[in-house]
Amino acid sequence: MNILLLGSGGREHALAWKIAASPLVDRLYCAAGNAGIAREAECVALDITDHAAVIAFCRTNKIDFVVVGPEAPLVAGIVDDLEAAGFKTFGPSKAAARLEGSKGFTKDLCRANNIPTGAYERFTAAEPAKAYVRARGAPIVVKADGLAAGKGVVVAQTVAEAGAAIDMICADAQLGAELVIEEFLAGEEASFFVLSDGENALPLATAQDHKRVHDGDTGPNTGGMGAYSPAPVMTAAMCQRALAEIVKPTISAMKKMGSPYKGVLYAGLMITAQGPKLIEYNARFGDPETQVMMPRMKSDIVPALIASRDGMLKSFDLRWHDDAALTVVMAANGYPGAYRKGTVIEGLEAAGETEGVEIFHAGTAADGGRVLANGGRVLNVTALGRTVGEAQARAYAAVDKIRWPDGFCRRDIGWRAVQREQERS
Ligand code: AMP
Repeated sequence: MNILLLGSGGREHALAWKIAASPLVDRLYCAAGNAGIAREAECVALDITDHAAVIAFCRTNKIDFVVVGPEAPLVAGIVDDLEAAGFKTFGPSKAAARLEGSKGFTKDLCRANNIPTGAYERFTAAEPAKAYVRARGAPIVVKADGLAAGKGVVVAQTVAEAGAAIDMICADAQLGAELVIEEFLAGEEASFFVLSDGENALPLATAQDHKRVHDGDTGPNTGGMGAYSPAPVMTAAMCQRALAEIVKPTISAMKKMGSPYKGVLYAGLMITAQGPKLIEYNARFGDPETQVMMPRMKSDIVPALIASRDGMLKSFDLRWHDDAALTVVMAANGYPGAYRKGTVIEGLEAAGETEGVEIFHAGTAADGGRVLANGGRVLNVTALGRTVGEAQARAYAAVDKIRWPDGFCRRDIGWRAVQREQERS
């Protein structure tokens, strides 16, 4: 088969690495890719917002299957366009991707189907939203309705902070004036992933990520500074509850609505005293969670992605390694604020030879023989180990071999899981 993967981040490097290992694959292309993905796939300079150009590439290169990495093309309907042109594509349709594209859509779906989530209301203007905040009190969560690349959520500790967040979102033309104001949920966060074929849900490995930029889970939110798998908080019983109470009712509701959900459904959960509650859905693999899930997946991923597209997941089985995996994100100094591009990264080869380690590139560009930083989150230094603690030690051993004075990373990725392991032993 010839496969085209769309995207250029660490998630796509991990997917490319796993897809390239499949004996079913003749040629793997990636648009646009990065310096690391170029090791696994032929990178092509395609603008993935130009659906006609992607379709033309598929025709010329006899693509048998397309895998969409990021959310923006899904929400823009690239799956619908590729399928209409006759190309089998992994991922949800535009209508199904509303689960990520509109927080209000998802909250309404939860309310209509008794799916546990925080209490909320939707607003299209600042004043009624502020009145609701005053009535409910703080802490409270203010969200822009649409895609916001991680910038559209403010967990406000005071009514004044919530008011400022409402003004910020309403003033930002890109975010739009649609808001969701939501109850603050206390607990531990975890991510739960399934593959869906429109009807059946096949659970994948669990993972937990670290959203805050600084050690001890402090500082501003980011796209994710590291992750590990499995997530100890997601016990088998908790996974069963998340599946039965949240994910399955969602998949049934989408089917009933005439927009069956195919692809990865990524549920961001808060494990509260009452059990799992939905924080949000994403319509694609997680980043950086995919970077820990792919090394743990024993089975070939390609048949699973095809079965999702074809509606054939009912009796499908995926095998996983028992080993834990952990990834440390190395980011450019200044991230998630302003940062420089084009700085030189050295020592990657030696770091990659550390036992159990795989380095996925998130934002890099090749410059002759050199690797340059080309984004905010730049590298995902990933390791397998018998325990999260062992994976953590290996990942940081590799990090310490990388010479990149213009970058930084957190030094405590996985701390909750490591603490639990230490308490047990
Ligand atoms: P989201 O983009 O919806 O995942 O939100 C980003 C982050 O904000 C989440 O990972 C949580 O840490 C936090 N968050 C979002 N909604 C809530 C909520 N209702 N209660 C507490 N924290 C939340």
